[in-house]
Amino acid sequence: MPETAATPRLVSRLPRVGTTIFTTMSALATEHGAINLGQGFPDFDCDPALIECVERAMRANLNQYPPMAGLPALREAVAGKIARMHGRRYDPAGEITITAGGTQAILTAILAVVHPGDEVVVIEPVYDSYLPNIALAGGVAVRVPLRRADVGGRPSAPEAGAAADDAPAIDAPAAPAGATGFAIDWDALAAAITPRTRLVLINSPHNPTGASLDDADLDRLAALVRGTDILLLGDEVYEHMVFDGREHQSLARHDELAARSFVVSSFGKTFHVTGWKVGYCAAPPALTAEFRKVHQFNVFTVNTPMQAGLADYLRDPAPWRDLAGFYQRKRDRFRAGLAGSGFRLLPCSGTYFQCAEYAGVTAAPSGLSELDFCRWLTTEVGVAAIPLSSFYDEPTENGIVRFCFAKRDDTLDEAIRRLAAL
Ligand code: GLN
Repeated sequence: MPETAATPRLVSRLPRVGTTIFTTMSALATEHGAINLGQGFPDFDCDPALIECVERAMRANLNQYPPMAGLPALREAVAGKIARMHGRRYDPAGEITITAGGTQAILTAILAVVHPGDEVVVIEPVYDSYLPNIALAGGVAVRVPLRRADVGGRPSAPEAGAAADDAPAIDAPAAPAGATGFAIDWDALAAAITPRTRLVLINSPHNPTGASLDDADLDRLAALVRGTDILLLGDEVYEHMVFDGREHQSLARHDELAARSFVVSSFGKTFHVTGWKVGYCAAPPALTAEFRKVHQFNVFTVNTPMQAGLADYLRDPAPWRDLAGFYQRKRDRFRAGLAGSGFRLLPCSGTYFQCAEYAGVTAAPSGLSELDFCRWLTTEVGVAAIPLSSFYDEPTENGIVRFCFAKRDDTLDEAIRRLAAL
């Protein structure tokens, strides 16, 4: 319906927001028949056993509203998973809430605790939903850039503790000299804290850079917020994709941090079902109480059969325990394939994203912005990627693009064939 004189004038709550880069690049990839290594989602199926769990739930008539905070069985399963991973036992009744994916949990936490004018510290490059979320709460985003650093971009050969590898060995390339990664600049973060800081948003493993916190980082963070009323929000949706024998350093692991943290994760990433949109938030009772006030009048509940199916499926810990090895093999396959190309690969210690500098890609017209390079790559080479610049609030060019390697091996191999010659 076209606008007419009767159309009321709208004042946008989010005047700077357009279509997300993920949607835009996916559409361009479809239009040009390109391999989509842009938007982060697997191109392979989930475990059929998970589908059967959900089907059983539907046939058992678990199709009406669940309790507002989520099915008790799923909250119990989540509590068990966190306890096994991090040694902290959250109370399913008062500390765990099932959400419609990680994104809804993050918005809900922000709306629950950020008052107009409160400052919220985010790390940049920043995932695209955070800044609009803060704006909707009337908060003021304070952006702290990650610093480029030698973060140990070692060859990605399996190390002790890495998951058993039954796939053919792939020679992982050594990180080329100068391929520095990204790390939190703790001094800059400390400088960003003011008496108005209400919340610090930590995303680890980090989308898009693939960087992840280590235990020393948790201690730095604890020192920074000690004695303040600052809350923390941990976006940990890639928690099970941490590589080279590292352990995921959740905010839930650290006594002082857990006491002031909303810890968010998502089953979509872990079980290859990004379209299901089921996740959770773990937080101490006082935080959870406020979280649920917003959740209750936002989505109210999350669909029942998916919750019941996931609860059933989670009785077997193997699927989430084996995920790091599964994705590490994909990362190594992709990195090995691009080793001789013009791309310079950044270290990737977690997530299913691989960042690459493209200055050495001589086949591309010179001087392209990251966005134009991604367009060129999609239309001329047939591989879609995401410009790092789309994770910045102000125009920022690092000469880096992000590839998603959550793809079947044959998809990755075809993408490598197209990219390796560049
Ligand atoms: N999290 C996904 C990514 O980073 C995108 C999800 C979305 O399209 N909003 O690629």
